[in-house]
Amino acid sequence: MLSTTRSTLRNVDVLVVGGGLAGLSTAVFLAQQGVDCLLVERQPELSGHPRARGVHPRAMELMRSAGVEQEIRAMPSARLLAGNSGVVTAGSLAGPELGTLDEKYVMDVQADIGLLSPTGWALCHQGELEDVLRGRAERLGVALRFNTELLSVDQEGPEGEEVTAYVRDRATGAEREIKARYLVAADGAHSGVRQSLGIPFDGEVLGHYVNVHFRADLTEQFAGRRFLMCYVFNEQVRGALMPLNNTDEWLLHLVYDPESEPLESFTPQRCADLVRAAAGVPGLAPEILSASPWESAARTASSFRGGRVFLVGDAAHVMPPSGGFGSSTGIQDAHNLAWKLSAVIDGWADPALLDSYDEERRPVSAATVEQAVLRSKDRVRLDGREQEPAHPDIVEDALVWLSWRYSSSAVTPWDEGMPAGHGVWSAQNHGRPGSRAPHLRLLKGGSEISALDLFGDRPVLLTGPVNGPWLDAARAVSHELGVPLAVYGVGSELTDLDDRWPELYGVTAQGAVLVRPDGVVAWRCGDAPVFTRNTLRSAMERLLGRHEER
Ligand SMILES: Cc1cc2nc3c(=O)[nH]c(=O)nc-3n(C[C@H](O)[C@H](O)[C@H](O)COP(=O)(O)OP(=O)(O)OC[C@H]3O[C@@H](n4cnc5c(N)ncnc54)[C@H](O)[C@@H]3O)c2cc1C
Repeated sequence: MLSTTRSTLRNVDVLVVGGGLAGLSTAVFLAQQGVDCLLVERQPELSGHPRARGVHPRAMELMRSAGVEQEIRAMPSARLLAGNSGVVTAGSLAGPELGTLDEKYVMDVQADIGLLSPTGWALCHQGELEDVLRGRAERLGVALRFNTELLSVDQEGPEGEEVTAYVRDRATGAEREIKARYLVAADGAHSGVRQSLGIPFDGEVLGHYVNVHFRADLTEQFAGRRFLMCYVFNEQVRGALMPLNNTDEWLLHLVYDPESEPLESFTPQRCADLVRAAAGVPGLAPEILSASPWESAARTASSFRGGRVFLVGDAAHVMPPSGGFGSSTGIQDAHNLAWKLSAVIDGWADPALLDSYDEERRPVSAATVEQAVLRSKDRVRLDGREQEPAHPDIVEDALVWLSWRYSSSAVTPWDEGMPAGHGVWSAQNHGRPGSRAPHLRLLKGGSEISALDLFGDRPVLLTGPVNGPWLDAARAVSHELGVPLAVYGVGSELTDLDDRWPELYGVTAQGAVLVRPDGVVAWRCGDAPVFTRNTLRSAMERLLGRHEER
């Protein structure tokens, strides 16, 4: 029962509920945009449990933009696992390998993707990644309230212009209300916020796992190998062994059936037996650090928004771990949403811009869930019983990481129609509206940067070397609309180190590309238009949901 004498804790622009990867990322991206935000997390501390171990290249690009790329790479697990790659199968770790995951769609985490991205995979486990993000959020001034649980949300305030959240301090029992302009629900797969909004979360359960975190020196059985994961199939165990430091810290994902094996049966003693069986070392004495149940499911919320409330991360979608897309998809949600909230709160975008969050992230998330499911089902072939080729709908890893495209009110419709591809994925985006602005190596003021480093807090107009008319137009449009807009000339103040600007962005020396703060191409003009200023103004108005203005 809620107390009737609640005090108001704070009024904020954005309240973030949940201090997992998605919530912490949201807080960091919002704070980078200068948005006043408060994060509440019901646990007294971050979970610290390793869970996901990989941050994929697009998510690492976003971590780079958050200023924490090097910090993540310096974390213990990221340093120690920096050279690991490959997935193998075996009867046990000590036994001979039975096979390797060697499919065309798999791109090795160590593959050189320097032409595609300024960064690459980081094999940093989730507990350490959350620590980095927490530190960054604190340095940016985000108020983080642990041990604080959201009880309910009310959007019925005067003229529906705010959200009232009721929270409880779990240490003292005190209940407070927080008034916010928007609320971001990053409260995980069982999101109470999503349920209170009545948003369906349909899908399928693919399996049940117990995630055992243990310590045991398996250096001898690892035998100098450096795989990412070893699927283990024997009479006692079906699961996957994953190194966390290549010597004595490991995860064992165990498949279990909750119908026949209650969770309580996974006592430390039984977990130790299963670790011994997976390692193939009968005399091993592992220290069991924790054992957490985990349901592998595939679900996408039927809407990522309910009024002033937005769902991000597992609250919006869950997927099996195959492919390592889960947590990285949540980080991308957070990044897509943060600049939009900031632009609306600062008044330079119409609230209509916020509609594009669901329009963009839901289809791409659903397609990512589908890819994770296809991979998960494909892994069955690893135990050697199936000889069928991989499912034809599985697209290459690199496409899932980098080559989605959005179709929404915040990007212009594609000028040349759909290129060849598969659903939301295409290898031929080449700077088309709705796709990620391609990586381009540039020289700026004597230092090498990526084109991606130019994007962040405001829209950017990238032009070729002949950009006088674009500069004039940008100055005028920025002033008329009261919108910050940066202009960079590739071939003038920026040197195109590989001479790839026209090819990668699909424009001539007279053309221009408008890139959103989240590094997504909003619009492009292949050549010089007749009315540069009007053309640019229309593109900006569309991007910001302001097309009704004139
Ligand atoms: C054991 C385990 C193993 C996993 N392994 C993998 C893997 O190998 N690969 C992979 O990609 N993914 C894996 N996942 C999934 C991955 O961890 C998730 O995708 C990721 O954690 C999602 O982050 P999130 O921030 O959206 O949600 P969560 O990490 O679930 O965070 C939600 C947070 O919200 C808080 N919260 C909930 N309700 C409230 C409330 N009312 N008030 C305040 N706070 C609240 C919770 O305490 C929690 O801290 C695994 C998950 C688990 C549990």
